[in-house]
Amino acid sequence: MNTLRRTKIVVTVGPSLDDLSMLERVILAGGVIFRANFSHGEMDVHEKRIQNVRLLAEKHGISVAILVDLQGPKIRIGKFINHQVTLVEGQKFVLDTELGDALGNEHTVSLGYRDLPKDVRVDDTLLLDDGRIVFKVIQVEVNKIFCHVLVGGVLSDNKGINRLGGGLSAAALTDKDRVHIKEAVRLNADYIAVSFPRNADDIHLARTLLQAAGGTQGIIAKIERSEAITHIESIIQASDAIMIARGDLGVEIGDAELPAVQKKIIKIARTFNKPVITATQMLETMINNTIPTRAEVSDVANAVLDGTDAVMLSGETAVGRYPDKAVAAMDRICLSAEKHNSVKIMRYPKERQMKQVDDAIAMATMYTANHLTIKAIIALTESGTTPLLMSRINSNIPIYGLSRHPVTLRLMNLYRGVYPILFEPTHIDRRILNKAAIAELQNRGILSAGDRVIVTKGDLIGVHGRTNSMKIMIVGE
Ligand code: PGA
Ligand code: MN
Repeated sequence: MNTLRRTKIVVTVGPSLDDLSMLERVILAGGVIFRANFSHGEMDVHEKRIQNVRLLAEKHGISVAILVDLQGPKIRIGKFINHQVTLVEGQKFVLDTELGDALGNEHTVSLGYRDLPKDVRVDDTLLLDDGRIVFKVIQVEVNKIFCHVLVGGVLSDNKGINRLGGGLSAAALTDKDRVHIKEAVRLNADYIAVSFPRNADDIHLARTLLQAAGGTQGIIAKIERSEAITHIESIIQASDAIMIARGDLGVEIGDAELPAVQKKIIKIARTFNKPVITATQMLETMINNTIPTRAEVSDVANAVLDGTDAVMLSGETAVGRYPDKAVAAMDRICLSAEKHNSVKIMRYPKERQMKQVDDAIAMATMYTANHLTIKAIIALTESGTTPLLMSRINSNIPIYGLSRHPVTLRLMNLYRGVYPILFEPTHIDRRILNKAAIAELQNRGILSAGDRVIVTKGDLIGVHGRTNSMKIMIVGE
């Protein structure tokens, strides 16, 4: 692993990482954010997996963040008597909210979400199993949706349903999610991802529930509904970070819309100083293969060039055969893409009036670092805000976020080009603090005598949001 890769790698945990030597290789290959997908599996299994990640990361002195991904109102069909059926084009099929959960056959299947008949209209297009199967709605009754199969194929138990164009009324936070928010707090997760938010209110509600549970986790809005695109700016402002959840989003808005929408969302998120994760099917064929396709390589590289903070692996690491190789592939693709100076969207905000002193220091630091020979930026930080602001600007200078707070260190794992380092400044004499911070990086072999660095900090150590100085220093002088 090259520690100077700027783009962060999110790894989804699952059965493939229950093999501890595989999990260890994934950590050493550069995974820094580990996602527990609460859509699948039992709580004790999630807990065990999170524990494994923490133990192995600690063994190697690597800081990792845990992301709990809530299930949200994913609408699914029930089960079939024979677990799957083959549907043929042109046949009729009925979605029935009254049918027993496991009684599906070639003509009908149950539906967990009882309000779906209220949300759909004649002529709507329903997409099942991520769009592999397509229905047209021909008639709607209180408990039944009568469909015409436009695209057939094998349909198996519990597959998801999306309506083309979105517009389903389901609230983003289900009763199950409310319980899971408490679990995420109990497990001391660092980030919580809200699935299928429609607007900023869904995120505000998640934060209210989180606070009621005593949590301060970072909230990630998964952009995976048409409505979320309509309300993208307010959702981004309400969240701490966002995820472009291309799986469900591609089904709702159409796959061909995704590449341009991805670029647009990344750009907006950066304007609002929020980190972005680009997710789903990035190296999909590596579930079964040791190398990615050229198209997958391009997809990961393009996300990096778009300015994403992180790229995510789902099935590749959760159920795939080569999780370590998938992480290694992302590592090398990101590193190569980062060498090319074609990232267009992280410019200095020329017209922007700065509201905060730390913002001014962050921008001045990045401008200086990019125009003078600087080896590293050292940001002494309480909340991680200054490194976050710095990381919105395109640069190839590493930003070391030095903090005494474990939570801040873990959260910073998501920020592009920011590397967390534990540093306790409270007992150090103010007059030698910069030198002590530099010495910390020298001890770690990151800096050597003669290197020029920029150190930022606040006058009051121990107070959030007060960074007010930058100093250019030479190591050893
Ligand atoms: P999921 O979200 O993996 O929880 O479905 C990601 C996506 O929809 O792309
Ligand atoms: Mn999804």
